[in-house]
Amino acid sequence: MNGKKGLIHKVERFSLHDGPGIRTLVIMKGCPLKCSWCSSPYTQSPNPEILYIKSKCTGCGRCIETCQQSAITWDVNLSQVITDRTLCIGCGKCVSVCLNAARELSGRSYTIQQLFQEVEKDAIFYRRSGGGITIGGGEPTLQAEFVGEFLSICQSHFFHTAMETCALTSWEKFAPLLDLLDLVYIDLKHMNDSYHIAWTGASNREILKNIRKAAQKNQIILRIPLIPGFNDSTENITESARFAKQLGKNIIRLELLPYHQFGIHKYEELERTYTIESIQPPSEDDMVNLQDIVRSFGIEVKIGG
Ligand code: SF4
Ligand code: SF4
Repeated sequence: MNGKKGLIHKVERFSLHDGPGIRTLVIMKGCPLKCSWCSSPYTQSPNPEILYIKSKCTGCGRCIETCQQSAITWDVNLSQVITDRTLCIGCGKCVSVCLNAARELSGRSYTIQQLFQEVEKDAIFYRRSGGGITIGGGEPTLQAEFVGEFLSICQSHFFHTAMETCALTSWEKFAPLLDLLDLVYIDLKHMNDSYHIAWTGASNREILKNIRKAAQKNQIILRIPLIPGFNDSTENITESARFAKQLGKNIIRLELLPYHQFGIHKYEELERTYTIESIQPPSEDDMVNLQDIVRSFGIEVKIGG
């Protein structure tokens, strides 16, 4: 194993929703998309970031004194410390001096060896449950070289490997990773390119092209995060199901993931604005109707992940 490093938001153990059996989820930093509904905004930036948990802050000012970049100031109107993220270099010094755990650092560097040692701790659970490792994010293909070497070691230890990806990457980076994966989860956000650009900040052309190619070699579960007013129209779900059907037998199933607002507090911790607060989760009836559309194409479909 070499000294190559990857930037990781978190390693989550005992996950039951990211592939078969008991799994360890490795959440990578950095994403090429900026989805308006993102429930994991910590992972969008490819750099370390400070999270601020206002409810724990006593206003002691230790972080302000410690920051050598002068990135932290006290905001009298808000009665809280604020961080100028254009000045912050993610050194983490303010985290270590905060006695109230009101500051956290998202983004820690791991060598491949350190990461493998972490996931290996649960090898017994993978073997007993048919589980393994799932690498997600963020977007793992942004750190393709690191991820490739890590997956390769996991495979050499016979761990089941899965990846959650938005598939917005070059085929040159994507293809070698697919060779190291037993299962791939790919998001299908919208079939219409204009909508895709407006709500995610990027075109779907490369994504659809990569999904078509990946379906020729890998077992794939397609996931549609269902966002009312964005992609929950009959027309879009019909188009998505038709696309999935054309991909052939390697599409194991399509999952419809209802929009939720559980991630809103994460925007507060990043001192960012959540722009789609007025959108409400879809009703159960709506979900069932959309599920029926997909099922009418002869595709296995599930509500939830
Ligand atoms: S050190 Fe912690 S508790 Fe003190 S002001 Fe900073 S964030 Fe708040
Ligand atoms: S992480 Fe470092 S640079 Fe950023 S606010 Fe904290 S002490 Fe300042």
